[in-house]
Amino acid sequence: MLPEGLADANSADYAKLQSRADGLDALGLLDLVIRDVFAERVTSVASFGTESAVLLAMIAEVSPSVPVTFLDTGKHFQETLSYRDAVAAQLGLTDLRVTHPDPLRLERYDGDSQLWRADPDGCCQLRKVEPLARALEGFDAWISGRKRYQGWARVGIPMLEWADGKVKVNPLADWSAEQVNAEFNRRNLPRHPLQAHGYLSIGCAPCTQAVSGDSGFVRAGRWAGQGKTECGIHDHGLIQAIGRP
Ligand code: SF4
Repeated sequence: MLPEGLADANSADYAKLQSRADGLDALGLLDLVIRDVFAERVTSVASFGTESAVLLAMIAEVSPSVPVTFLDTGKHFQETLSYRDAVAAQLGLTDLRVTHPDPLRLERYDGDSQLWRADPDGCCQLRKVEPLARALEGFDAWISGRKRYQGWARVGIPMLEWADGKVKVNPLADWSAEQVNAEFNRRNLPRHPLQAHGYLSIGCAPCTQAVSGDSGFVRAGRWAGQGKTECGIHDHGLIQAIGRP
């Protein structure tokens, strides 16, 4: 069922997707989304962290020309940027789209590049949320690699979501960490180079720490010691984020 009042041109596709997605595995759902319902109107949003390669490999198996959006916050580890390029090359991804924060807004609100210390939510807004909102313009659907085991904020993730007039697809929502690991091995996918150094989940360098294996959950090293657990790109209201002061 569509949320009341949100019906628009994409809603028919969302309803179609819902009616045909039952019983499909992750690869089947991707095939339905990419080759059938949304064709040229879908992008995948990838962080190129420790788990991204599995979903990207499945997308490449369906169609390597699907646009893959990467939010270059200007704060990534150099290892992530190198890994991004290596993974894209190995998988044959032909449409990697790197987006950046608005330089004028960066100058105005984060002139010393230290906003992450005083106001991490504001920093994520400038460097992630706004660029993604712009990057999604022109697409009717996007694909995310989030999984339910990644923390309490993600335990209820559905396979299909309706957000801001677009369809969000989470093909791996119900996968376990063991399944992800097995798929890495089965497909012989490269690992993020920082994973071997205890980084279980990787975002921007200032806000990511290595963690011990018994730290509780995979994203424990993100904004460690703060109440913050998510950057905001999965909050509804993304489209309204553009240009917010
Ligand atoms: S993760 Fe940290 S550095 Fe990256 S955008 Fe958010 S607050 Fe800024």
